[in-house]
Amino acid sequence: MLLQDRVAVISGAASPRGIGLATARLFATHGARVVILDLQEAAAKDAAASIGPNHLGFACDVTSPEACRDAIGRTLAETGRIDILVNNAGVTQPVKFQEITPADWQRIIAVNLDDVLNLSQAVVPHMRQRKSGSIACMSSVSAQRGGGIFGGPHYSAAKAGVLGLAKAMARELGADGIRVNSVCPGLIQTDITGGKLTPEMKLDIRKGIPLDRLGEANDVAGAFLFLASDLSSYITGAEIDVNGGMHIH
Ligand code: NAD
Repeated sequence: MLLQDRVAVISGAASPRGIGLATARLFATHGARVVILDLQEAAAKDAAASIGPNHLGFACDVTSPEACRDAIGRTLAETGRIDILVNNAGVTQPVKFQEITPADWQRIIAVNLDDVLNLSQAVVPHMRQRKSGSIACMSSVSAQRGGGIFGGPHYSAAKAGVLGLAKAMARELGADGIRVNSVCPGLIQTDITGGKLTPEMKLDIRKGIPLDRLGEANDVAGAFLFLASDLSSYITGAEIDVNGGMHIH
């Protein structure tokens, strides 16, 4: 039980086959009380109920600073503490550079990068008070190698922004006992691709993966468990690769 009695907030964790819910489930088996934030309150509550009693689900559009403050306020009113924040929510879009419209750019940056700022700013005052906390942020191999799997250049830019922001946060918040790290998954089989990834594309991607398989949501959940727990007590500002060897650097 690596997270006994800890409270963990996870954004974007209502999607049934998603990395967020797999992480929530794994955290719960390790004794954590989990708070799921997602766009729809009912879906967030259903997802929380699906991992066991006592977990919570709230609506929170993480692109809105007010919504993030509200959700964290509701969480603290129920739990009294937050030990762990996983900034997981994200969306992608497979377009080429010249096709990116201003609206696409705003949307992809807002959900993949602004969200990390918004939700972290809402949680950090509480963690600072307690001089303790672990924040884990979802980046992607797309940030490290400039895409080339599914998402467009705006997605790569947003996920690369996450790496810079998380490292700067790690530097600034370390003195308050708050660790901040990032996870960079390769291709993980979830619904984020909206069925647009064909079997041929998958086979092609697999050829470049030394472990010879695509990733599963649980592969990434394990990395988040490590970062959330005391097993990683001296790790901050790190990028953890979860890509089957697709990108070795
Ligand atoms: P998913 O689509 O299953 O999950 C994404 C979740 O984010 C959904 O529950 C969705 O409702 C939620 N969400 C979207 N916009 C939101 C908003 N504005 N506010 C709150 N919640 C919002 O996809 P997934 O693959 O589990 O993705 C989880 C994270 O992992 C994303 O940040 C994604 O970019 C990242 N990622 C995924 C892969 C992959 O191959 N699947 C690889 C690298 C990184």
